[in-house]
Amino acid sequence: MSDAQSRLDLFIDRMVSQRACLDYAIAQSHGIPGPVFELGLGNGRTYHHMVQYIENRPVYVFERAVASHPDSTPPDDRVILGDVRETLPASLDRFGATASLIHADLGGHNREKNDAFARFVSPLIEPLLAEGGLMVSSDRMYFDTLTELPLPPTAVDGRCFIYRR
Ligand code: SAM
Repeated sequence: MSDAQSRLDLFIDRMVSQRACLDYAIAQSHGIPGPVFELGLGNGRTYHHMVQYIENRPVYVFERAVASHPDSTPPDDRVILGDVRETLPASLDRFGATASLIHADLGGHNREKNDAFARFVSPLIEPLLAEGGLMVSSDRMYFDTLTELPLPPTAVDGRCFIYRR
C-alpha cells in the first residue's frame, strides 16, 4: 500500500481541521463585538456551523453566486454578492477595520491557482480585521501585519491556517 494519503484522507483532514480552527477562532474572538465574515458560502456547511455557535455577532457572507443548502442560506441583507476582489475593497468603506473573525474557504481543486488567489486577496482581507481579530483560512495567506498562530491540537498542519491581528 502507498504511503501517500488518499483523497478521502485529505478531505477528512481538511474538514476536521476546518472545524477545529473555526471553533478555536470563535472562542478566541468571543469578546470582540465586530461582525464575522464568511468568504465563500459554497454548500453553506461552515456558514451553518458559524451561525450555530456564534452569539451576538452578525455573520456576513461574501459570495459570487449563492447556491447553498436551503438550511444554510443567509438572509439577503447578510449577503455581499459579487467577486471578493471587488466586494472586499468596497466593504472597507462600509465596515472599516471591525471584523472579529474572517473565515475564507474560496479555493477549488487547483493548488497553484488557490495559492495565487490567496496572494491576491490577502491584502484585501488584512485591513478589515479588528485589533485582536482572527482569520481562518483553508489556504496559506500572505499578510504583512498578522501573526500566524499554532493550530489547535486536533487540526492537521497545512490543512488550515489561523492568523491574528
Ligand atoms: N466553506 C463552504 C462550505 O462549508 O460549504 C465551501 C466553500 S466553496 C469551497 C468555495 C466558494 O467560494 C464557492 O461557493 C465559490 O462560488 C466561492 N468563490 C470562489 N471564488 C470567489 C470569488 N472570487 N468571489 C466570490 N466568491 C468566490
